[in-house]
Amino acid sequence: MTRSGQEYLEALRDGREIWLDGERIKDVTAHPAFRATAVSFAGLFDLAHDSAHTPVLVSGGVHRAYAVPRSYEDLVARRRAYKVWAEASYGFLGRTPDYMASGAAGFAAAPEVFTTDGFDGAENALAYHRRLAEGGLYGAFTITDPACEGVRVVAERDGGIVVRGAKTIGTGAVFADEILVGTIEPLAPEDTERAVSFSVRVDTPGVKLISRTSYEERARSVFDHPLSSRYDENDALLVCEDVFVPWDRVLTYRDVTATAAMWWETPAYLHFTHQSSTRFWTKLEFLTGLAILLTRSQGTDRIPQVTQAIGRLLGTVAQAKAFVLGAEASWEPVGGGRGGVRPGQEISFAQRIMAGELYPRAVADIKLLAGGAIVQTPASGRDLLHPELGPLLRRYVRTPGDPAEDRLKLLKLAWDALGSEFAGRHEQYERFYQGAPHVYLTMQTWAGGADACEDLARTCLAGYDLGTTK
Ligand SMILES: Cc1cc2nc3c(=O)[nH]c(=O)nc-3n(C[C@H](O)[C@H](O)[C@H](O)COP(=O)(O)OP(=O)(O)OC[C@H]3O[C@@H](n4cnc5c(N)ncnc54)[C@H](O)[C@@H]3O)c2cc1C
Repeated sequence: MTRSGQEYLEALRDGREIWLDGERIKDVTAHPAFRATAVSFAGLFDLAHDSAHTPVLVSGGVHRAYAVPRSYEDLVARRRAYKVWAEASYGFLGRTPDYMASGAAGFAAAPEVFTTDGFDGAENALAYHRRLAEGGLYGAFTITDPACEGVRVVAERDGGIVVRGAKTIGTGAVFADEILVGTIEPLAPEDTERAVSFSVRVDTPGVKLISRTSYEERARSVFDHPLSSRYDENDALLVCEDVFVPWDRVLTYRDVTATAAMWWETPAYLHFTHQSSTRFWTKLEFLTGLAILLTRSQGTDRIPQVTQAIGRLLGTVAQAKAFVLGAEASWEPVGGGRGGVRPGQEISFAQRIMAGELYPRAVADIKLLAGGAIVQTPASGRDLLHPELGPLLRRYVRTPGDPAEDRLKLLKLAWDALGSEFAGRHEQYERFYQGAPHVYLTMQTWAGGADACEDLARTCLAGYDLGTTK
């Protein structure tokens, strides 16, 4: 059976080196910058033990995301499991453990991609997948280089390699059991020192995580910041100071081609997208629900233009759903003879374009519906409890439909989701978490489809000439 939330939390108390605001954090499960989010992640593990969810979340004793999908039905079952976890945070925890689990299942579906002339990482890739699946482990990953000094190999020793340098941005890394380090951007052929991929435990000596500002720590209470107080998944700079990595944890080594191919020639990236597009659909459902409640609360919901704006948002939810279902329905076999399947590449890649462009627009549309009210809330819920201010707020902040406490609860949730610093980070996340536009727009051209489009246009051109009559 999978780990319990308590077992997960205990594993985080391993002496890992986390830094925040000049302070070395001793225990992320106890610190006000991290503890409530750690509990939210723990809650996901506990859901697998809840009899209402176990059949959806667990298969063969592991979370479904670790299982290698072998049919369309397997893809659908995975998506149902992704959806349960996504709904637990309303889509705001992007890098839940099923994300890297799905990528690891992608590696296990095509381990031959890790076999090269100079290094054979196939067994290690399979062992990585097994370790994560059997332990129910939470893998984070950092595959983006900072502007300079990305992680590189600096020495070979008996039993392994020594790596030095940094990777940006490790979402969820402070809450993870292991961090997979690699590079997704194409490297120059001579850049073999940086062409390395490996996975280390977060408490490995020399591994440091330097956290960004904690929105959870700034949140005054759950009432005032219902999302950022509990679902701040964190992003951290990974620094490796001469970290020793045993050979059995190395996946690709001094090989530029394999270091990129592990993402593109295994189905890992497509499984990532399947998980994240399910979460994205869930997040849009939540935001649209928020828009409906806001307009009803302020009595604008019957204005035709407002109804139409809600219609547009519901249309975006349907689009997000259609991308998930379409990627499943256009499934493709994975090469290599192991019987794996992957969500359709063309639609999966297109989801990145759609989601990156749609999210900021949906947020802007809902802010337009919300008006100034989401800004004009008292500094904290304590004002409602104050003997002098409470009665004033109850009198002047209510609407015909909602007493003040319900109204403020809704407005504060809306601000956290749409306007806060946490919300700004989410907008950037949805645009960039799987690469910048110049990367995913180019990727779409690899997915094929151009020939069919070109053929259709050529067919039209071939159907007439100067002499053709109307
Ligand atoms: C909130 C958040 C969480 C993330 N989490 C993770 C994570 O957990 N793990 C991980 O590995 N990565 C993560 N990422 C990093 C993400 O993968 C990168 O941000 C993304 O790949 C873009 O890389 P970059 O930030 O270096 O931007 P750049 O590649 O520098 O691009 C930034 C902008 O520069 C311009 N630009 C740059 N190069 C070109 C070009 N060749 N052609 C045209 N325009 C160009 C474009 O305007 C582009 O939008 C996360 C990012 C965010 C924002």
